[in-house]
Amino acid sequence: MEMRADDRAAGMDQPIARRDFLNGIAIAVGSIASGVLPDMATEVLAGEAATQAGRGYYPPSLTGLRGSHPGSFELAHKLQRGDLPLQTLHPGEIYDLVIVGGGISGLAAAYFYRERQPSGRILVLDNHDDFGGHAKRNEFELGGRIELINGGTLGIDSPRPYSVIAAGLLRNLGIDPVKLDATCTKKSFYGSIGLGRGIFFNRETFGSDKLVVGVGTMAWAELLAEAPLTPRVRTDIARLYEAKIDYMPGLSREQKKERLARMSYRDFLVHVAHADPGVLPLFQARTHGEWGVGIDAVGALEVWPLRFPGFQGLDLDEPGGAAPQSGATPHMGFTASGYAATGGSYRFHFPDGNASIARLLVRSLVPSSIPGRSAEDIVTATADYSQLDRPGAPVRIRLNSIAVSVRNVGEPASAREAEVIYSRGGTLAAVRGKAVVLACWNMMIPYLCPELPQRQKEALRYPVKTPLVYTSVAIRNWRAFRELGVHDIYAPGSYHSSARLNQTVDIGDYLSVRSPDDPILVHMVRTPCKPGLDQREQHRVGRAELLDTSFEVFERNIRDQLTRMLRPGGFDPAVDIVAITVNRWPHGYAYEYNPLFDPYWNEQEQPHVIGRAPFGRITIANSDAGAGAYTDTAIDQAHRAIEELVATEN
Ligand SMILES: Cc1cc2nc3c(=O)[nH]c(=O)nc-3n(C[C@H](O)[C@H](O)[C@H](O)COP(=O)(O)OP(=O)(O)OC[C@H]3O[C@@H](n4cnc5c(N)ncnc54)[C@H](O)[C@@H]3O)c2cc1C
Repeated sequence: MEMRADDRAAGMDQPIARRDFLNGIAIAVGSIASGVLPDMATEVLAGEAATQAGRGYYPPSLTGLRGSHPGSFELAHKLQRGDLPLQTLHPGEIYDLVIVGGGISGLAAAYFYRERQPSGRILVLDNHDDFGGHAKRNEFELGGRIELINGGTLGIDSPRPYSVIAAGLLRNLGIDPVKLDATCTKKSFYGSIGLGRGIFFNRETFGSDKLVVGVGTMAWAELLAEAPLTPRVRTDIARLYEAKIDYMPGLSREQKKERLARMSYRDFLVHVAHADPGVLPLFQARTHGEWGVGIDAVGALEVWPLRFPGFQGLDLDEPGGAAPQSGATPHMGFTASGYAATGGSYRFHFPDGNASIARLLVRSLVPSSIPGRSAEDIVTATADYSQLDRPGAPVRIRLNSIAVSVRNVGEPASAREAEVIYSRGGTLAAVRGKAVVLACWNMMIPYLCPELPQRQKEALRYPVKTPLVYTSVAIRNWRAFRELGVHDIYAPGSYHSSARLNQTVDIGDYLSVRSPDDPILVHMVRTPCKPGLDQREQHRVGRAELLDTSFEVFERNIRDQLTRMLRPGGFDPAVDIVAITVNRWPHGYAYEYNPLFDPYWNEQEQPHVIGRAPFGRITIANSDAGAGAYTDTAIDQAHRAIEELVATEN
């Protein structure tokens, strides 16, 4: 790595020995010489620990580039380019069911199949080195204790109430989200010690760096008094939040909604609420977390139920009524604004997010792999990966195994088996099952299964998953946050558009950090969208960018951003940052239709409905198949895929 003038101050040259303090893993000397926090995903998975049966194989504690980690996806891209010649292989193993994809949907499919066929033998294949898919656990040993955070899927929540099936699965796994929320979630902790929410204005976007703190507790004029904004922009922001003005006089509610459904929130602010365009940089990233794109590509009616500013004088019904689903505003699949329309579902999340659900599923499928009995003790239980793929076991979970071909053996209509070819460690192998469930990603399926009908393949290609990054940064202490009185920062113009201290959840033996003198994790979110394009195109461009970004670039940006936000509180990146995990998700959230860009289709014409049709002995699960980026969707789709198989089993 070439060192830049300010790299030393940012800590880019820090000796890697600091990492040993974290997790006791011996780290290659080459990384010290290079001066970069190493991509430990690649380094640690060497030698014996490289196979899931090996001693020391424990992916949750790997740092560096995680999520779609190096080595997990390259073959899929080769397949996509037509560069992967496949030969006929003798099937080495035969199962009742083979599942491609070991995320929540694939694991739930295994669970539902076992309910129907208790003696059924199942193989789950996943291309990653860990199970869970997006439900990824990041585990750090910090200051003698385990600190957990989600590397992807966080909450057991959804814009709609969980279905009987999805809620039933949680219950069977011992999860009572309402009770756990009441007893374990400590939402008010940071508030109770005087920390609030802030906004960081960066100099590249706003002219100078400035952190203001007090969102939600101070009047906007007061909060923005020292923000690098013109007086007109400050006044307009305060007006948007606080004034009750009808910006669409003379129109009925339905006419207003009809117009709002067809314009972006950006256009609403400028052309309807007549705000100075100088307000836009502040709001641009407000939709990143839910939609993965900015306000240029999210409809105004979509954000109204989420109480975005500007709507309070429009008399649009109280958000929470049936308004977002009304005839003027057709919604297909899930949509984040459904939270307001239905009240949403649960609130609870585990310290490692829905990785705990994946781990509970794995414990139920392969009991010897994770000790314990409850939803509380799963949090601190250590998984033994060597147990996941034992010969003779009724359920086997094979990691680092990417499927490259899936076909019915014989004609789809009369086939009694399906075959999967997968690659593991550079070697291709074939395996057969009486059936195969594809719990992977829709856009991959046409390449795996070229024999699918053309219309179905086109439908499967339609959705473009949202690229995004969840970064976990371990810091030595959080005195700077306390000094600045902040725990959660929105940073609309910065590389990561938000940064917050790990949320406080106490469950079982796991107790969240309370003292600012102790190490903690900071959660940062980056959404590599490209304003101005339609949503799917923004996702394509963002995905390419993510795959092209090295760990070094992430690290430099993380150090720079945290320093500029927190230095006034005494933060020193060279001393305070002790580890970084970049959970990179080029194929993140399932695509949810966007009324600004997608035509309105009746249910049977919707691409996800056409795409999930069974094909001989092959059925399709995964959250794309429900057009909803939620865990309940992943579970419901798994259930449907299994029921389709069982219905045709003889
Ligand atoms: C950053 C992030 C945050 C999220 N937060 C939430 C949240 O808070 N709440 C919520 O409900 N939902 C959230 N989601 C949505 C999440 O996608 C779903 O909740 C759910 O985890 C999806 O499960 P899945 O099994 O359908 O997909 P995935 O989790 O993507 O699992 C599919 C698996 O199949 C694998 N696969 C793909 N192709 C192949 C192949 N050819 N061979 C082998 N394996 C293959 C994939 O690599 C992956 O491991 C979030 C998603 C992301 C990315």
